[in-house]
Amino acid sequence: MSDHQLRLYNSLGSRIEDFVPESNPSGMYSCGPTVYAFPHLGNMRPYVFADTVRRALRWKRINVHHVINITDVGHAVADTNTGEDKMEAAAARERRSVQDIAEFYTAAFFNDINALNILPADEYPRASAYVPEMIEFAAELQERGVTYQIPSGLYFDTAKDPNYGALAHMDTEGQLEAARVEQVAGRRHKTDFALWRAEEPGRRRVMRWDSPWGCGAPGWHLECSVMSIALLGRHFDIHTGGVDHRELHHVNEIAQSQAYLCDGLPWVRFWLHNEFLQLGAEKMAKSAGGAPRLADLVEAGYHPLAFRLFLLGAHYRSQLDFTTAAIDAAQATLRRLLARIQPLRPLPAADTLADARRLQTDPAAASALDQIDAAISADLNTPKILAVLQDALRDPAITPAGLRATVAAADALLGLSLATLDPDDLDKGRAKEDLPAEDRQAIERLVADRTQARNDKDWARADQLRTELDDRGVQITDTPQGPTWHLR
Ligand code: AMP
Ligand code: ZN
Repeated sequence: MSDHQLRLYNSLGSRIEDFVPESNPSGMYSCGPTVYAFPHLGNMRPYVFADTVRRALRWKRINVHHVINITDVGHAVADTNTGEDKMEAAAARERRSVQDIAEFYTAAFFNDINALNILPADEYPRASAYVPEMIEFAAELQERGVTYQIPSGLYFDTAKDPNYGALAHMDTEGQLEAARVEQVAGRRHKTDFALWRAEEPGRRRVMRWDSPWGCGAPGWHLECSVMSIALLGRHFDIHTGGVDHRELHHVNEIAQSQAYLCDGLPWVRFWLHNEFLQLGAEKMAKSAGGAPRLADLVEAGYHPLAFRLFLLGAHYRSQLDFTTAAIDAAQATLRRLLARIQPLRPLPAADTLADARRLQTDPAAASALDQIDAAISADLNTPKILAVLQDALRDPAITPAGLRATVAAADALLGLSLATLDPDDLDKGRAKEDLPAEDRQAIERLVADRTQARNDKDWARADQLRTELDDRGVQITDTPQGPTWHLR
């Protein structure tokens, strides 16, 4: 069977295209976190998504150099990208230094991405370490005549770019208008954005650098252009981020980078965007506060990889609703997968299609591998890979060796640690007493129904109830005094 061509949805042009790397290693940049608060569950989606891209490239034996930046300066509170910095606002709110805030929330980000089994990036540059380069970049733009200076700083003149906004899928006029209600005195067009944010008279910033445009701080968009070009070269293959970036941040990154490079080539070839994770039909937002974090899920008894499985159960370009029922179902699926896979251990490693093919021993496994390759190649169809894996685990025609190859291949792309995760870890620390009252009552009811079914000698129903309890992580022990249960 032949390999499938990797095809990805490119937001630039809004179509699915063949992905062929233009350099070795292929350059990939993912807009990273702004480290002024804990990342919430929605913030994890772009990194699980970027990780899926990484795993797909590895599967196709494409080397990649991956950069994720850490925004520790420059991201303004206002959409206009002027005025107060999110980092400084957080420092004032928490009465800590900006450095403390950055270190603390950067560590929180790394904790979460590690727990989600995300492959480490090759580099995690911090914006604050690149300010001199950002000043040089902005000075170059000024020399090219695409900027203007007003009291609040140096601005990029978007009217100088005939293709401004080509990436955005929404109507830029309306969208940007809505995003930028704040008035900036002297700004020529509402889409113009700050390259340099000058200090307001009488308001000394905590993070401040000297520049040709006065003491101040860089604009947010600048850092990604400057750091990606510094670390990946003038042009590179892939740039990722959440869909909100497609409308504004990436639009501005492209405008300033292409004005800087001025070589008539598109700056980055593939722009990939994940859709939002929603909570009750609204986007989970960091600035609004109160959005659940990975630590909250763990505390409630869910494994981080159950959250990963929940994300991968939807295509990255679909909006996804976070609900208790959905995360319960993901935890149950992970538990079922592990129960079925554990007897197959030790599993071989098969990070690439070629490795997996070498391990495969029978036609059923060959077909499963081909379906997995087709699914990842079709714009990263992770739900389909999960389905192929589940079908293979039920397929009587597949040999144990073939099944091992299939599981290893699926997991190389899904990253669920299926080879090593201990099923007992799934419910670690969950005591019966910690369960919410309604969950406990629901379990008690299922146990009572099962006892009734057994008394009625309705074995099919009793088995079905046992499976249901199993899915909830409930272990039943039948004793002469009747059944008892505990959480595994
Ligand atoms: P931030 O730390 O706020 O700069 O955001 C980090 C990343 O999370 C960006 O790529 C955002 O586009 C993305 N993001 C923010 N909220 C959500 C959400 N609810 N669902 C998915 N991605 C999100
Ligand atoms: Zn960025």
